Amino acid sequence: MRCWAEINIENLYDNIRELEKITLKEKIMAVIKADAYGHGMMNICEALIKTGIKKFAVATVEEALEIRETNNEVGILILGPVENECMSKVSDNNIYFMITDFEEIEYIEKNRINVNVFLKLDTGMGRVGFQEDEISELTEKLKNCKYVNAVGIFSHFSSSDSDEEYTKLQEKRFKEMSENIMKEVHSVKYRHLLNSFGSLKYHDSEYDFVRMGIILYGGVTDEETAPYKFKPVMSLYAKISHIKKMHKDSFISYGNTYMAKKGDVVATVSIGYADGVRRDLSNKGYVYYKGHRCSIIGRVCMDQLMILIPEELADSAKKGDIVEFFGKNINVVEVANLCNTISYEILCGISNRVPRIYK
Ligand SMILES: *Cc1c(COP(=O)(O)O)cnc(C)c1O
Repeated sequence: MRCWAEINIENLYDNIRELEKITLKEKIMAVIKADAYGHGMMNICEALIKTGIKKFAVATVEEALEIRETNNEVGILILGPVENECMSKVSDNNIYFMITDFEEIEYIEKNRINVNVFLKLDTGMGRVGFQEDEISELTEKLKNCKYVNAVGIFSHFSSSDSDEEYTKLQEKRFKEMSENIMKEVHSVKYRHLLNSFGSLKYHDSEYDFVRMGIILYGGVTDEETAPYKFKPVMSLYAKISHIKKMHKDSFISYGNTYMAKKGDVVATVSIGYADGVRRDLSNKGYVYYKGHRCSIIGRVCMDQLMILIPEELADSAKKGDIVEFFGKNINVVEVANLCNTISYEILCGISNRVPRIYK
C-alpha cells in the first residue's frame, strides 16, 4: 500500500469513555455524516452501537438509508435537506428529518405523508430554520397539522468554539423559542442544541440529546478540550518510494519553488493532493519520520510529494519506510492551521482512494 488511513477503534472507545464524564451515554447522538468525517460511516456506526450508542445523525438521505439497511433499531436523524420526493421513503424507513420552513409543512399536509420530524430553529447560525418572529405562525400551523408530527426541536451554534457571548445568546433564544412551541404543540418531547464544543462549555441538563461530531474522532487539541482529553482516531501514513542525494543544487517539484542544495537527501513520498494532502502544505507542512519532523519541500503533487531528510537520518532513511502526516505525533489541528482551515475539512478531505485500515 502506498498510503493509508489507520482508524483506531480503541481510541474511539476511549473518546466515548471521556465523553461520559461530560454527558450521559444515552444522550449522545453520534454525528457520522460525510462518511463519519472520513473515518468510514458503517464501521464507525457499528463500533459505536457496540458501546451502547443508539442515536445517529447524518447529512443526507442516502447516508440515512445505508445505516437503516443494516440496522432497524437505532434512531437516525438527517441534518441536511430532504427533498419532497424523498419524504415518504425516509418516513417509511422510520428515519427522522428536519423541517426548516412552511413550504415543507404545506407539502407534507397536501400529500398526506405521515412523518415524524424535528423542527429546526434559526437562533443565529443563519443557515436554515424558523426565525424568532415565525414561531407563533409555526405553532398555529402545527396545531392544525394532520400529518406532520413534530417530535422535537433543535438548533445549531455558529461559534461554540470561539464566541462565548454569542453562543449564550443563541442558547437564550433557543430556550425562549422552543418553550413557546412546547407550550402549544404537545407532541414535542425532545430538544437538542449542543455540538462537540458546546457540550464542553455548556450544561446539557436542559437537553435530551447532545450532537457529538469532531470530538468523537479526536480532531481536537488538549487545550481546546481541557480538562478532558481525546485521542485521534485517524492517522494518515504513506511510504517513501524513492530516495536520492542531490548531485548538485536543483529545484524540487512543479513551479521550481524550492532549491535543494548539493548533498541534500530528498525522499519522495507516495501521497498527494488527490489523496487529501492539501497543496497548501507545499513548502510549509511536515511529516513525522523516525522521531523527526521533516519538511515538505516544493509543491505537493497530485499523487506524490517530496520531503527533506535531516542529516541525522541521511544514512538510515530508506525506500519503503513509513511517514506520518497526522495522528499520534502530529495533531490534525496543526495541519489544518497550516492550511488555514479546520480539522473537519482535513479529515473528511482524505479521499476514497486512501484505504481505511481498522485496528
Ligand atoms: C455537523 C453537525 C454537528 C456536529 O458538529 P461537531 O462540531 O462536529 O460536533 C452537529 N449539529 C449539526 C446540525 C451539524 O450539522
